[in-house]
Amino acid sequence: MKEFICTVCPRGCRLKVDEVTLNVTGNSCPKGTEYGKNEATNPLRILTSTVLIEGAIHRRLPVRTDKPIPKDKLFDCMKTIHTYKEKSPVKAGQILIKDLAGTGANLITSREM
Ligand code: SF4
Repeated sequence: MKEFICTVCPRGCRLKVDEVTLNVTGNSCPKGTEYGKNEATNPLRILTSTVLIEGAIHRRLPVRTDKPIPKDKLFDCMKTIHTYKEKSPVKAGQILIKDLAGTGANLITSREM
């Protein structure tokens, strides 16, 4: 049995998920069932970080993935992000890296700079 706190809404229901049957209990709505099953089988997260930028008012540029990526790919993505450098100017939402670490998600800027 795995336990999660549902983060879909502020209520934060305590979910219990049977790892064999994927039966979810503790949820107050159907969204919790889906969330619990996903967390138990393929947890996804939006990755947020910063990259180096040259010629801008700050040394680091906030970035994020444009969609959730598998949690077990976060380390591979961070290795790529850690070595990436960008040059100013950039626009908000600009794609910096397509298909980040083979996840299918793009790394985009969170602001202009
Ligand atoms: S199970 Fe439903 S009510 Fe409970 S936190 Fe998740 S979304 Fe909110």
